[in-house]
Amino acid sequence: MLPERIPIPESLHSIETGDPIATCLACDAPLLDGPTEYLVEKGYRQYEAYDVQETVFEYAICMDCHAEMRQSFSEPSKRRCQAYLSEHVDLAARTGRLLDADSRDPADWTRQCVVHGTPRDELEEYQVIAHCQGDELLLTHLPLLMGGHAIDALVQRLSSETLDDLGGFRDEHLGLPPELKRDLQGPIVA
Ligand SMILES: [Zn+2]
Repeated sequence: MLPERIPIPESLHSIETGDPIATCLACDAPLLDGPTEYLVEKGYRQYEAYDVQETVFEYAICMDCHAEMRQSFSEPSKRRCQAYLSEHVDLAARTGRLLDADSRDPADWTRQCVVHGTPRDELEEYQVIAHCQGDELLLTHLPLLMGGHAIDALVQRLSSETLDDLGGFRDEHLGLPPELKRDLQGPIVA
């Protein structure tokens, strides 16, 4: 079955340009024309006291670069992450439920943490991951939202070797200030 597609919603546009993210973070390949599939990842932090939401990072990565990065995951890391996710999330059931709904609001995919069910408004930190091709968003088990606690739990299941590799990727491509590095390990979910 082919995935359903909708125009990339504004929530996934770049906050810098207001438009969809145009190039791969790692290889600079153009993304918006042509058949290249890619992931969009955004990280957020919310300050409840101030009612402020901040985008901590945002990028797109093409599937080739993503696959390359995944290869650097050690086998035990991959196994432990998959075990954690399959233990806590029934992605197939979730996807079926979302696609059975009458409306096609992509926001329905990201209203709560996919692991714990925590509503987005109650999360201090979270990441959103989406699968796109050209100027369209694919509705599959993605997009999904994962809260900070679930991300931490996944990160704890990575080997130090894998964490080093992800840290290298992050430092090379994202240029985050040191105080934010703790929160971001790179794309580990999709
Ligand atoms: Zn790339």
